[in-house]
Amino acid sequence: MKFDPASNIQDLLQFGEFGDVNPSITDSATYTFMEAKTMVDTFTGEEEGCFLYSRHWNPSNRYLADAMAAMEGTESAWVTASGMGAITTAILQLCNSGDHIVSSITTYGGTFAFMANYLKKFNIDVTFVDITRTDEVEKAIGPNTKMIYTESMTNPLLQISDLPVLADIANKHEIKLVVDNTFTPMMMAPAKMGAHVVVYSLTKFVNGKNDCVAGAICADAEFINALADVNTGSAMLLGPVLDPLRSSGIHKNLHTLHIRMKQHSHNALFLAKKLEESGLRVIYPGLHSHPQHELMKQLMHPDFGFGGMIAIDLKTSEKASSLMEAMQLKGVGYLAVSLGYFKTLFSNSGKSTSSEVPDEVQEEMGLSEGLIRFSVGLDQDIDRTWDKIRECLQSLGYL
Ligand code: PLP
Repeated sequence: MKFDPASNIQDLLQFGEFGDVNPSITDSATYTFMEAKTMVDTFTGEEEGCFLYSRHWNPSNRYLADAMAAMEGTESAWVTASGMGAITTAILQLCNSGDHIVSSITTYGGTFAFMANYLKKFNIDVTFVDITRTDEVEKAIGPNTKMIYTESMTNPLLQISDLPVLADIANKHEIKLVVDNTFTPMMMAPAKMGAHVVVYSLTKFVNGKNDCVAGAICADAEFINALADVNTGSAMLLGPVLDPLRSSGIHKNLHTLHIRMKQHSHNALFLAKKLEESGLRVIYPGLHSHPQHELMKQLMHPDFGFGGMIAIDLKTSEKASSLMEAMQLKGVGYLAVSLGYFKTLFSNSGKSTSSEVPDEVQEEMGLSEGLIRFSVGLDQDIDRTWDKIRECLQSLGYL
């Protein structure tokens, strides 16, 4: 039977303390033990059923983590205070000083900066590759390589990672495949395609309300338990824990994600086609012109479409700025970073969320300075939205 992330979440029975339909929100940093020995056993990891301290584990985060694990088809998960909290915690758990990472050159700018600049402090080296060239990925692996890192759909170029092939390469070399699935929740199930660790910014589609930042790490129980180990776990020791109040809000929003993803995808496909018909250069995995369109069809869950993200290339950042300002004034959406919101958001990637990537690297990866990344919202009447975009394009002389 097909992997069904939405039904897996629906089937979870997660009650509150008094049978509440929404699980109770933990309002405690610490927890009592009736017997002193149980506390000792919890510290040593022999006892796994008790809550000890909220930085280690807390009940609200457990509910969200269990739901994320159900969605991804992993044994376990741990939720963090931001997407970067998830990415950095997972990487620092897997890599030691002297290790090496092979990473997609196209990733979220914060991830790129962490790998290119910050990991140097720990003497961890990164080789950046074009992730669509799996031969290059394999060639870059050396004796000290610990992981291949990629995004299932890369930010902002919307390339599709061939996850089964990357997983085979990782397994062959006995290293881990770590995948950021932020752009493609429900649509792709990286762990089902062989990824060992799946990381998320829950800030985006999963929460969908733009009211907080959060993240998640989904993996097997051994890895998640290691993260929370009181002596060696990077989650326990670096402390990027999510606040339980936020956790409970995200948990409720997760239950509508499947419906939202369908509408994001429906609207984005409509706009991508219209933009392409207008003669603009459009990147959208649902278009035949996308180089990995066929691969995307193989990897995606057919019920959730090709996703809510579109990129268009206006060649210069000045032109991109004029169009974005015009679209905001027309009410198409907001000139803002981030994605996965119920309203459409747009930003000029090279000057915003990928500005950490040096200009020459942007050029090398094919990121044009005029690239506008759209996160298409949940608009009921997308034809009406297209009329507004068309008027903006007309006023700037594009049509
Ligand atoms: N991963 C991707 C693909 C992103 O786009 C972002 C943020 O834009 C992050 C991770 C970081 O997430 P957060 O902002 O929640 O730390």
